[in-house]
Amino acid sequence: MTVGEGLVALVVEDHDFQRRTMARMLRSLGAREVLEASDGSQALVLIRDAAPAPVDLVICDLDMPEMDGMELLRHLGQENSPASVIINSGKERALLNSVHKMARAYGVHLLGVIEKPVTRVGLEELIARHQRPNSNLARPSASNPSFSLEQILNGVEEQQFETFFQPKVELNSGRIAGAEALARWRHPEHGLVGPHAFIALLEQGEKIDELTFQMLGKAAEACRNWIERGLELTVSVNLSLVSLSDTTLADRVTQAVRSAGLDPRHMILEITESAAMTEVAPALENLARLRMRGFGLSVDDYGTGFSSLRQLTRVPFTELKIDQGFVAGCAANDSLRTIVESSVQMARRLGIKSVAEGVETQADWDALKAAACELAQGYFIAKPMEGSLFVEFCATHKPR
Ligand code: C2E
Ligand code: MG
Ligand code: MG
Repeated sequence: MTVGEGLVALVVEDHDFQRRTMARMLRSLGAREVLEASDGSQALVLIRDAAPAPVDLVICDLDMPEMDGMELLRHLGQENSPASVIINSGKERALLNSVHKMARAYGVHLLGVIEKPVTRVGLEELIARHQRPNSNLARPSASNPSFSLEQILNGVEEQQFETFFQPKVELNSGRIAGAEALARWRHPEHGLVGPHAFIALLEQGEKIDELTFQMLGKAAEACRNWIERGLELTVSVNLSLVSLSDTTLADRVTQAVRSAGLDPRHMILEITESAAMTEVAPALENLARLRMRGFGLSVDDYGTGFSSLRQLTRVPFTELKIDQGFVAGCAANDSLRTIVESSVQMARRLGIKSVAEGVETQADWDALKAAACELAQGYFIAKPMEGSLFVEFCATHKPR
């Protein structure tokens, strides 16, 4: 069976010869029907009229007269088109990357970008990613349950929240250096629910501390347990910036961690500046006090939003966590790699550790190692896992 078996495909390309070549290639890959359009508006008409055999796959050029590829992608996203899309263009890499991001942001189901001239193998590879409609690969967030603040707080009170751990590994030696504790809600009906469903609501409702202190206690206990087993590890916990406006926070955090039997030197607090820091002074007081007590401080999601250079000048950070948006794909993308390399260099000059989050492939791992980044975290090493599995992971992990 060929990858394109039975598909209804649409080629959007103003160049006649290229369009016919692509159409032929698609037929030879098994497409049931191949429609052709020479610009975006013709394509939209064909897509809208295609029922009852809707278009499964759109292969589109970017630079076309009348409606260009960018506008077509916008319409497809806004109309919630179920069609999979492949962008085919001879434009420069940086532009293609940017259009890739734009298409995703519009909610287009993008299979990938393929440069001209197209090879059969390259095309096959992308088409193989196509999922038939009604497959269980739902769009992110489409099927995610949403909760009220009250429901979330109830879950916190009922102790339904758990800490999952994701290893942080030294790129040079492959040794496990520690783990980040990530909150998971084991919901009695919905199963395991991730942070996107509750963190922002808890922050907005000024109730995030209820969860934070459970996380701190559980993470500290787990880390104490690792150390007792002879594992020299640190544990990282995410701290919401909103919590930092209360000047009693540092004392309460220290107290919670110590009473779980852990020396603060084994804990790193990760701070993301998700909203503008309104009250700077109390936040700085808390952070200075936490550092003084021995906690490590990490600037999380570095390079995004308000996690910026200015933060580095005023907070005694010990670690810089490069946002996954720069890490994933850095091996193949010059601009990403440049940003990663200079972040690593800056961290080194500031005398703090560099961590890359969102490492998903061997290629990115290799690029980070070449850039002399110190630590890596990501699916390439392991996904976040339950505490008991993490201990097992440490026992069986072989440095790469
Ligand atoms: P974060 O602190 O930046 O954590 C990293 C996120 O990236 C985690 O998502 C992790 O599962 C995900 N991740 C790790 N490696 C990879 C990878 O290779 N590929 C991809 N695509 N993703 C990867 P998660 O667990 O969904 O957490 C999302 C965010 O929620 C966290 O981002 C953090 O800001 C927040 N969060 C999680 N737990 C807590 C908590 O206890 N308190 C607070 N305040 N925030 C939390
Ligand atoms: Mg984090
Ligand atoms: Mg992060």
